Amino acid sequence: MYQQRDNMVSARAGRRTPDQETMPAAAYPPNEAERQELLDSLRLLDTENEEVFDRITRLVARLLKVPTALFSLVDADRQWFKSRVGVEHTAIPRERAPCARVVESGELLVVPDLKRDACFHDSHLANTGVRFYAGAPLLTRDGYCLGAMCVLGPEPRQITEAERKGLSDLASMVMAQIELQHAFGRIDSMSGLPNRSQFIEDLADLANERTPGEARLAAMVNLATPEQLSDALRALGASYLDEIVGEAVRMLRAAIGPGRKLYHVAATQFVFLAEPGADIVRFCDWLGCWLDMRADTMTSRFVTTTTIGVAPFAVGHSDPLDVLRDMHSAAHDALEGARRVRVFSAEQNAVFLRRFYLANEFGAALEGEGQLRLVFQPKVELATGRCIGAEALLRWNHPVLGEVSPGEFFPVIEQTSLARATTRWVLARALRQLAAWRAVGLTLQMAVNVSAVNLLEMDFCAHVSEQLRLHGLPPEALALEITESALMKNRVLAMQTLNNLAAAGVHLAIDDFGTGYSSLAYLQSLPARVVKIDQSFVRDVDADGHKRALVSTMIKLSHDLGHQVVAEGVETAAVAAYLKDAGCDQVQGYLYARPLAAADFERWICAKWTLPRVRAARPAVDTMELSCA
Ligand code: C2E
Ligand code: MG
Ligand code: MG
Repeated sequence: MYQQRDNMVSARAGRRTPDQETMPAAAYPPNEAERQELLDSLRLLDTENEEVFDRITRLVARLLKVPTALFSLVDADRQWFKSRVGVEHTAIPRERAPCARVVESGELLVVPDLKRDACFHDSHLANTGVRFYAGAPLLTRDGYCLGAMCVLGPEPRQITEAERKGLSDLASMVMAQIELQHAFGRIDSMSGLPNRSQFIEDLADLANERTPGEARLAAMVNLATPEQLSDALRALGASYLDEIVGEAVRMLRAAIGPGRKLYHVAATQFVFLAEPGADIVRFCDWLGCWLDMRADTMTSRFVTTTTIGVAPFAVGHSDPLDVLRDMHSAAHDALEGARRVRVFSAEQNAVFLRRFYLANEFGAALEGEGQLRLVFQPKVELATGRCIGAEALLRWNHPVLGEVSPGEFFPVIEQTSLARATTRWVLARALRQLAAWRAVGLTLQMAVNVSAVNLLEMDFCAHVSEQLRLHGLPPEALALEITESALMKNRVLAMQTLNNLAAAGVHLAIDDFGTGYSSLAYLQSLPARVVKIDQSFVRDVDADGHKRALVSTMIKLSHDLGHQVVAEGVETAAVAAYLKDAGCDQVQGYLYARPLAAADFERWICAKWTLPRVRAARPAVDTMELSCA
């Protein structure tokens, strides 16, 4: 329905002829019902004043040197003033009003003295002391007259030709503005509501009406997440969006009342301002109640999550785009947690901005040179004390931020498409290093961490095999470490990739074991050879009875299922001794070495094992009698 109305306005605009610039259409007066329908569809009645119209109205008053000027819309039984100078009231009856006559004739009307005029001597205006009236029709391009741009004076007077022309021109400017708003992107074509551009302009204009610096509140209602919308559109078709938008507009209109402007700023987002002086707590409570009330009745309640973001701002000081962004991020944050209404938080925003910044910067780091590097942490076999492998860990030295911890940047990039390129970057360099070490006799196994999304890449297994081949390495030289959470999403596909990797001979390890949700259920079905007990269980295990019970159970369980066990985060000899007694196979931790640059790793391995130095063409290390000192 909204669509049709909007098209009606633009279709009419398309039929414009040069004559219509200055003249009403031939068949005047047009059908009153049609005129009324057009007026309703423009959604100007009972809306807030707008600076763009107020400016023109002030100009009209100055031009004709009168105290009162009105942009008057003629409704079924009243004249309603969209913009006014010199009067307080917003409407007067239509009956015997000169503006109604302008609408009927579609022509400029001048009444030099209302008291002496046969038609208007007993009109509402005449009875309230107005003597002079001049009104120019507000004509659409198709000749529908919406009302009049009019002036009122307390004394009888005439109008000059220049004033007549000026009044007509300014009436045309009002119409041009209305048509501009509708035809050129100020009105959303689906809802008929003012859109994002209009909100930005109105917020900037607010400084002209209110005290600059005044604290105000803006709220954004977000009807659904993009994923929910996409799912619903797939399942229910495009008309579903019309349906939920139409329903939301009706409910929001009813909630905020007719005098307040409601903006449709994005497909499923609406914005409005709280009353001046509104208390933030009460405003949020009210919004929360509105959501609860709506939750019981709306049609989309089962498939969408509506949230509201509230942003405080200062009139004239806050950038409208920032206000929109603040509301948007608050509405997004409201998806987490029990309350669906969230006030914008600068701290949370700072976290978000940093995450966003990191994601962007990491992309550049990956493409460029010098910011990313690998370090290697030794893996030590407890029974023999030998170093049997290394875990490759990524390091990022950002030119401004300095060292950024993988604990911070990995969770960020794993949410983006960069995860694929990152694992490929790490894998290529880790295998190149491994090949170099094996070439000089260090027969180590290299462990590389894999992100959850890598397991969903159709060609991941083929890529890994290709890399091994390129570097001349056997598949068992590589262990891929996967966290349990990697299997949470699209489990079937992830399992398929893991099975393919295992079938190709690559070793698999379950990283951070014990921190996931589903350890036991998945443990028996995974083609993994190794379980890595998370360092949170390992730290102080020797001194903590609960941890001892947990770790020894994990070791026993893993062994029973045929897995080897690696304990991460071994920092003390006491922990190492306990783990050895408990039957743990391998350990990693600061007790042995921190993650080291390749050259330091080589020095460490030589020093620990009293090797003079690692030389090319040396026999494999595991054939020598090497043990940790
Ligand atoms: P992770 O795979 O569980 O790696 C073990 C982490 O424990 C490493 O942290 C390591 O430096 C740290 N660590 C080792 N021994 C000790 C110890 O004795 N005490 C303490 N307190 N910590 C120890 P790092 O390097 O900061 O990496 C953190 C996580 O970031 C890794 O956990 C892994 O999940 C992820 N990550 C690092 N590099 C990569 C990578 O190349 N790819 C992927 N997908 N993830 C990576
Ligand atoms: Mg790991
Ligand atoms: Mg770990």
